Amino acid sequence: MRAVSVFPNDKAIKVIDNHPAPALEADTEALLDMLEIGVCGTDKEIARFDYGIPPAGSPYLVIGHESLARVARVGSAVSRVKPGDLVITMVRRPCPHAWCRSCRAGRQDFCFSGDFTERGIKGRHGFMTEHVVDDASYMHVVPAALRDVAILVEPLTIAEKGLIQTWDVQERLPWTAAGDGDGHGEKAVVLGAGPVGLLGALALLVRGFEVWVYSREHEGSSGAQWCDSVGAHYVSSQTTSLPELAKLVGNIDFVYEATGASALSFQTLEVLGINGVFCFTGVPGRKAPISIDADLLMRNMVLKNQLVFGTVNAGPDAFAAAIDDLGKFYARWPAQVKALITGRFAPDQVVSLLTGQAGGIKNVIAFS
Ligand SMILES: [Zn+2]
Ligand SMILES: [Zn+2]
Repeated sequence: MRAVSVFPNDKAIKVIDNHPAPALEADTEALLDMLEIGVCGTDKEIARFDYGIPPAGSPYLVIGHESLARVARVGSAVSRVKPGDLVITMVRRPCPHAWCRSCRAGRQDFCFSGDFTERGIKGRHGFMTEHVVDDASYMHVVPAALRDVAILVEPLTIAEKGLIQTWDVQERLPWTAAGDGDGHGEKAVVLGAGPVGLLGALALLVRGFEVWVYSREHEGSSGAQWCDSVGAHYVSSQTTSLPELAKLVGNIDFVYEATGASALSFQTLEVLGINGVFCFTGVPGRKAPISIDADLLMRNMVLKNQLVFGTVNAGPDAFAAAIDDLGKFYARWPAQVKALITGRFAPDQVVSLLTGQAGGIKNVIAFS
């Protein structure tokens, strides 16, 4: 069957047509017909051969980790999904070590050993192919009404996992609204206007936060207009400095970082508010060291009770929350949510998407 494959040793990306079709091997597995696979920055890094590890013994890695599929067949022990269901399959699989308490608890998103695998990224083939078999316990059913936008679930899980942890942390302030998932009266800044940032902005808006999206694009850009249309404030870093942004916002309760830009992020940390939480999600490229005002940051963190944390991957709770939230987003902003998916392409067009300067927000490979 056809599969989009990266050959790290040959530095080649090819759509092969002889990838072996998978079969059900255990009665807990389900066979999926792949519908759509999203392309993101991680895929582009793999296509630059910076990243991406084929399964042991394979010269290539089938890429793709953001997926939407239809269940074709299920093993006899599967009750979680049934044929015809639309499903999103989780990406990370547990490490083998008995001592890894996270993986043994089914929370490989917090793996201690680093020996986890990830479909389409590390040691396991991904979803950019025609059919996939996996254990049904990694699959989450999506309502059929979300068919057109469900490919956004996986990138949304990043914000969902960040917010779940933020509520845990803000339980230290039980006398404020925050802590039970209610952001009313709280002010959030989202750094970056890519898919992860914009989906994060929606997740904050549905919880009642007042949201400012801070990014490079001009204030008249399509991204800025999109933010205005959902009720977020858009502020361009080209015309407004971070101290000016802080004046506009007031006490910044939460920063959701979705850029991978370290200098911008640490400058924003300087204006984080009292009792504020800063959530990093971006992975910076290896560039020259930046200088930061460490005294100021440390003084602020102590004197303002601040908390800074990073988050990666997502557990079953974040997948469930993402599906739930995407339904809320689509009911409230149908046109804006659809507009996040800027192109659907045939598998043959993937190389230009991965290596070229394809514009748009979220581009998708459609297999059927
Ligand atoms: Zn991704
Ligand atoms: Zn582990």
